[in-house]
Amino acid sequence: MDEKNNTPVNENVQKPLNFIQEIIEKDFETNKFNQKVHTRFPPEPNGYLHIGHAKSICLNFGIANQYKGICNLRFDDTNPVKEDIEYVDSIQEDVKWLGFDWEDRMFYASDYFEQLYNYAVELIKKGVAYVCDLTAEQLGDYRGTPTVPGKESPYRNRSIEENLILFEKMRNGEFEDGSKTLRAKIDMASPNMHMRDPAIYRIRRANHHRTGDKWCIYPMYDFAHCFSDSLEGITHSICTLEFEVHRPLYDWFLDQLNVYHPQQIEFARLNLSFTVMSKRKLLQLVQEKNVNGWDDPRMPTICGLRRRGYTPESIRSFAEKIGVAKRDNTIDVALLEHSIREDLNKRSNRVMAVLNPLKVSIINYPDDQIEELEAINNPEDPSKGTRIIPFSKTVYIDRDDFMENPSKKFFRLQPGGEVRLRYAYIIKCEEVVKDDTGNIVELKCTYDVETKSGTGTSNKKVKGTIHWVEAQKAVKGEVRLYDRLFSVENPSGDEADFKSFLNADSLKVLKNCLLEPCLAEAKPSDKFQFERLGYFCVDLDSKPGNIIFNRTVSLKDSWSKIANK
Ligand code: ATP
Ligand code: MG
Repeated sequence: MDEKNNTPVNENVQKPLNFIQEIIEKDFETNKFNQKVHTRFPPEPNGYLHIGHAKSICLNFGIANQYKGICNLRFDDTNPVKEDIEYVDSIQEDVKWLGFDWEDRMFYASDYFEQLYNYAVELIKKGVAYVCDLTAEQLGDYRGTPTVPGKESPYRNRSIEENLILFEKMRNGEFEDGSKTLRAKIDMASPNMHMRDPAIYRIRRANHHRTGDKWCIYPMYDFAHCFSDSLEGITHSICTLEFEVHRPLYDWFLDQLNVYHPQQIEFARLNLSFTVMSKRKLLQLVQEKNVNGWDDPRMPTICGLRRRGYTPESIRSFAEKIGVAKRDNTIDVALLEHSIREDLNKRSNRVMAVLNPLKVSIINYPDDQIEELEAINNPEDPSKGTRIIPFSKTVYIDRDDFMENPSKKFFRLQPGGEVRLRYAYIIKCEEVVKDDTGNIVELKCTYDVETKSGTGTSNKKVKGTIHWVEAQKAVKGEVRLYDRLFSVENPSGDEADFKSFLNADSLKVLKNCLLEPCLAEAKPSDKFQFERLGYFCVDLDSKPGNIIFNRTVSLKDSWSKIANK
């Protein structure tokens, strides 16, 4: 990281080159692009970005940074029906937050509508594009199947003059929506379905979030994308594997008009276990209120991960670890969780918090005494220093840390047993107090003054150390515990039914948690390790007096276990 401008530099220089870097280095050798690297990240503003997009962002901006090139942000806004300014704004915020800078190079495909129209006119003039009157349904019938060649449209051999007139009339709004298309004249028998006279323009009276009602015809993705790349002088147009079969068309358009020709390169999209990664499905979850919005901390969106407590560094390091592949695969979500643990372990202060409080009265402790104990903020980083935590006759511990009838391997508190309170004393459980219904409501304990952490003279050792919070100065707070949003590894396996795999227990809200006093000051997005419980982040809606924490991730690292097997 370059501290000053937050620009990630090539973080892993010694790694072997990936296949995209190999292509770029070869292009340097042959001087294919004049020693330049110019990439772009081209989202369609029809949803919030997700962790898959983060991979693409890290790849495009990362490669440009590595080779001292540049990367554009381009909104691929050719389908006005699904697009919205809300998405345009969120995408910019997310890319910036990830630590990347497009400088003054933010573009919209809609900026090129006039130019794209002119390109289409040139294709007509060359005799390689025609206006077709087949309806959507007829077009489907004429297209054939991968094994059966398509049929040529009866309108395919219109004269250039007629096509020019009709296309202009299309633009001028003289025809109904869907009644005509402009199509490329390529090959209806091509084994590649994308080459069977694909549509270039369709008529659609839809208000566009930038061009308003200026246009009633909109260019198709394949046509708009290659020319946008060409106009911006992109060298390497990096996209996901499903576009491999579109590449001949990408090349065909550019070759027909003999314009500057970027190289399209495909890589495998990121799939994560226990996660869905399609904007359509994520939108469905939002609209049908299975989650609380795009930034619900269970969502794999960048804003969801941010709210959950993920850092940009952890996401970039994740992207670096998974690398780029040419074949589709699924990454274990445990690797993403590992990346955030690794980062938060270094940077987050440790504090104590009790999620399910159980009262502990220390019967031999002086009644009105409040003691100040010293606690270490971050054992990984001595520069973070220490803080003071109060201790008194009444403390709370987590219910899980006491068992009335424990197994042999339970080293925490039990009747007659001893445990160390972190940074404080060893206590012994003398009595278990229950209410009328038999619920344990309090433990009466004694402490041994000689066992004070750091300064005590006793050399007594116990097997368990537990966290706790002093009663009078504790801060009340809400803690939200998250589990995976889906209960199966591949929720998208069965297209129709991904929602049936939603995990009903993905969110647990604990309202009566007790937090160490210093957390009263915590601000949204502050991050801490709650000792023994995991990494937690202050929620966006948190306010003084109503502190809310999200658990980012627990401490147990299932990835290390897998990796060390
Ligand atoms: P989705 O499939 O989630 O709807 P999309 O491909 O339609 O996504 P775009 O806005 O077109 O979304 O994506 C912008 C860029 O991000 C494209 O270059 C696309 O290839 C890339 N991208 C999208 N999803 C992934 C993914 N899962 N892994 C890597 N790159 C991705
Ligand atoms: Mg897309």
